[in-house]
Amino acid sequence: MKFNDYKYERPNLDEFKIKADQILEEMKTTDSAERFLEGMDEFIKIRLHVETMFALGSIRHSIDTTDEFYDKESDYADMNMPLFQEIVISFYHTILGSQYKESIEKKYGKHLINMASLSIKAFRPEIIEDLQAENKLTSEYSKLVASASIMFEGEERNLSGLVPFMENQDRAVRKAAYEAYSGFFTEHEADFDRIYDELVHVRDKMSKKIGYDNYVEMSYDGLLRTEYGPAEVKKYREAIEEHIVPLVVKLRERQAKRLNLDKLKYYDEAIEFTTGNAVPKGTPEWIIDNGKKMYSELSAETNEFFEFMTEHGLLDLVNKKGKQAGGYCTYIPEYKSPFIFSNFNGTSGDIDVLTHEAGHAFQVFSSRNYEVPEYSFPTYEACEIHSMSMEFFTWPWMELFFKEDTPKYHFSHLQGTLLFLPYGVSVDEFQHFVYENPEATPTERKSKWREIEKKYLPLKDYDDNEFYERGGFWFKQLHIFTSPFYYIDYTLAQVCALQFWIRSGKEGKKAWEDYVKLCKVGGSEPFLKLVDIAGLKSPFIPETIPSILPDIEAYLDSVDDTKL
Ligand SMILES: [Zn+2]
Repeated sequence: MKFNDYKYERPNLDEFKIKADQILEEMKTTDSAERFLEGMDEFIKIRLHVETMFALGSIRHSIDTTDEFYDKESDYADMNMPLFQEIVISFYHTILGSQYKESIEKKYGKHLINMASLSIKAFRPEIIEDLQAENKLTSEYSKLVASASIMFEGEERNLSGLVPFMENQDRAVRKAAYEAYSGFFTEHEADFDRIYDELVHVRDKMSKKIGYDNYVEMSYDGLLRTEYGPAEVKKYREAIEEHIVPLVVKLRERQAKRLNLDKLKYYDEAIEFTTGNAVPKGTPEWIIDNGKKMYSELSAETNEFFEFMTEHGLLDLVNKKGKQAGGYCTYIPEYKSPFIFSNFNGTSGDIDVLTHEAGHAFQVFSSRNYEVPEYSFPTYEACEIHSMSMEFFTWPWMELFFKEDTPKYHFSHLQGTLLFLPYGVSVDEFQHFVYENPEATPTERKSKWREIEKKYLPLKDYDDNEFYERGGFWFKQLHIFTSPFYYIDYTLAQVCALQFWIRSGKEGKKAWEDYVKLCKVGGSEPFLKLVDIAGLKSPFIPETIPSILPDIEAYLDSVDDTKL
């Protein structure tokens, strides 16, 4: 059966609640561990059905945000997701209050119990209305961004459609494209400010309602960070400032020299070479065909995975009008199907989708036999190890896509991971400020953002862009609006993925085998345990970051970039 035939029907939450209550009641009163575990399985089964429907509705809505039917279904999901969550929380209470914890642990592992404990802390029924308000606001943000219709070079374009022009070799063209891009945010500045301000207040209010000092703590619990807190993250950001920022300054200076520019302006940063950035050398169909070849050669496991994806129509990759921005991978549990969504635009980012999002999809496919939905994906920082490491494990096949541009691609990719780290921690530090100071005004938030940029991205030059100079750059960062505190995760994972890059050069197959092992355990363990299973070093250990830099620097130094 193909994705288009996967049947959507609006999940009946009332019915779900009645059935769930029955099952949970039986679990509470049974005097048999076996019966209790059966109850868990029954609950998981009806839960997976609702999750499957929400996933299908959300995917179809994202593919065409102008489709009225799925637009309504999306509103329905926004309204009902918190009610659904409430029932899942009752399930957690039932597990945590039961006398059969030992049997539960034996069958499902300890991690489920730990996750349940944190989840019940970060959720209580009295915040349901706030969560609904939050969902409405984040949907408003996504809709506003998707609504962008910018006249540029003779055509109405959405934001992704501007990206190729932002990478144009002609400095005037890319400057104009950047201005058109930031112009959209400036034009809607009051809307973005209002949406974010309301989000901050509703989040702050609910955290206080349920006994937290602020939303930072609530978020860490909500993200199921069982092994580290804001203090560890702060130290980690300091390590990035100490070891990575000076290196990035050097790389940016090297880039300016390569481009024959005195100084990089913000609209030059995406330009790596005077001869043009690496771009894929064919149509979307050609890219997918080469993707098939790549995954068939990489390993038996990836071959089976990618065949499954293409046979079932689980890839929607091409940029179309009305399509939601960005890219993602999600999972449709009853069909045991990953799904990959993206907006191809002719840049090297198209290939990243095929490696990055496919890395996520490969993981969830590899661990699909865990029945517990909590184990489908691990927590975010662990998830991104799968995706970012797949970007490196597929290096040997990049010639299929980039042909003569391959050395450029490799250089930019590896360098790009370092360039990203200071930005990644900026987003994180900014959010700590925002939620520790919920009463800050939109203007204060923007100037704080600019101050943080100056610390981590000291060379950033916004030229005559008044809006960015005032600190408006982060408006485009979806995560800041829709998934607070989910961002440092990319940087933590990157530090892990870079270790796989080093190891695959030195250990070959052994590194790949560890990667597959990591994918197979899915989300059944927390982050640092998974890092250990994969044979990697924790990014929180102070020696880790300096220990990976010599190999990376040696590679980058070995490339004669003036010839690229
Ligand atoms: Zn990802």
